[in-house]
Amino acid sequence: DGGSKARSWKWREMLRFPNISECQDLAATIERDYYSLCVKQPIGKELFRQYCWTRQDLQNCMILLSDLVGLTGTRMQPNTNKFNLRKQNIYCKNSESLIKPPKRRFTNPPRNLFCFVLRKGTFLSQEPFQQYQNSMYFERFLQWKMLERKPITKKLFRQYRLLGKGGFGEVWACQVRATGMMYACKKLDKGHVKKRRGEKLALNEKELLEEVDSRFVVNLAYAYETKHTLCMVLTMMSGGDLKFHIYNMKQKLDKHRVCFYAAEVCCGLTHLHEKSIAYRDLKPENILLDDKGHIRISDLGLAVKLSEGRLVRGMVGTVGYMAPEVISGDKYGLCVDWWGLGCLIYEMTAAKPPFKGRKENVMRQELEIRITKEQEAYDERFSNEVKNICTALLKKNPKERLGCSGSGGRDVKAHPFFQEINFRMLEAGLIEAPFKPDPRHVYCSDVQDIDEFSTVRGGVHTEKDDQFYQKFNTGSVSLSWQNEVMSCLTRPAVVQLGQE
Ligand code: ADP
Ligand code: MG
Ligand code: MG
Repeated sequence: DGGSKARSWKWREMLRFPNISECQDLAATIERDYYSLCVKQPIGKELFRQYCWTRQDLQNCMILLSDLVGLTGTRMQPNTNKFNLRKQNIYCKNSESLIKPPKRRFTNPPRNLFCFVLRKGTFLSQEPFQQYQNSMYFERFLQWKMLERKPITKKLFRQYRLLGKGGFGEVWACQVRATGMMYACKKLDKGHVKKRRGEKLALNEKELLEEVDSRFVVNLAYAYETKHTLCMVLTMMSGGDLKFHIYNMKQKLDKHRVCFYAAEVCCGLTHLHEKSIAYRDLKPENILLDDKGHIRISDLGLAVKLSEGRLVRGMVGTVGYMAPEVISGDKYGLCVDWWGLGCLIYEMTAAKPPFKGRKENVMRQELEIRITKEQEAYDERFSNEVKNICTALLKKNPKERLGCSGSGGRDVKAHPFFQEINFRMLEAGLIEAPFKPDPRHVYCSDVQDIDEFSTVRGGVHTEKDDQFYQKFNTGSVSLSWQNEVMSCLTRPAVVQLGQE
């Protein structure tokens, strides 16, 4: 657990604002988009909120908004009624365009009932937003933005233990000195990347990670380079991977945990699919637990962005987990991931993958025949619902497969297997995980087993390499960075810090 306690004693200095005169270029070029500046970006949202509170005429509106913040994403049960009676005058006062009161009591209100208040085209995005841009709060925002855009070097981090090893290098635990935030730093050795022509892959992974913003997918916070490595600084996942939890723990996964993990993976996939990203490498190893027991999908190395409903071809994935259409060399799309979810639920339940015995050695060719031709077997460990959802997800023909009817995962979430899951609460982060990793335990076969990585030196350094490094080395990722800073500051500090 990082936390602000562990931040450097020099943190104030590290977060010192540039003089406002240095922000002029930024002020001239920054896109004046209400949604991005005042809703999406955490620091921008906070400063805009504080600005609005200073205005007498916006007080009612702010009271309404602060009530709504607690309600979006949750089920607003009976108190919706009380709420809209009490606040009736507020709706009217700040014009109809702000919000229309719900006419009836909802027992299961649509999630977006109030969302549009917070989005484009609402009352606050007009005159208040215009005035905000002339205020000292907006100046402060620009100063934060300048800090956000500072070049990133390895000096900003402390490095701790080795967490794992990947194809192009190692993953280390690290901590941002200025904030105390813990991350996992995935280092790609430049020599290895070059020798194995991994430039495109590395850049693909980095750019996809940059785009995702989900509590169920590992997020990117920084991308930077050192002399010999390219680094991706990712959400720290200290609870081990699902492979370890399935096979190496005395305590087996019970059906609640299987259902919970499957539901979170399902949300992660839905998020990727909304961005037209096919993940393509779903397997227990790639699902990581955090210290609270929530999971995230990690390792987007094989993921691909599909352009406008287009399909792709390519034998990509891990032997034993690839969907039949991938093996057969057909064109395929997002459906391959629902197959992957089927394999995952199966493996969590049976402690073996669907087409291979626990310790069985199978030739690749034989395994591929089984996957494309044979029906998987279900024993007594599978309840009706589990068997049912696995069968539906493991349909060989993607057209018949659950999740592939174009509903964006809604049909999967509606399956009786997920009956106990309230997806809305889950996505709002309001459900506690059924199992919390023990912080004293290292959930990894043996840290000693992770060999040190040898670096590859030499090779001729070209201009093309530099171009690639430059594309990679983009520094902080806005949302992650702002979240990190916000998590170590109190609300007034967002405005005051650095003023002395
Ligand atoms: P590769 O793409 O080269 O396979 P991975 O992204 O899978 O690399 O990372 C390699 C290993 O590092 C993983 O198996 C895991 O043990 C560890 N690891 C990766 N990402 C994280 C993370 N965010 N938090 C903790 N450990 C991680
Ligand atoms: Mg991996
Ligand atoms: Mg990878």
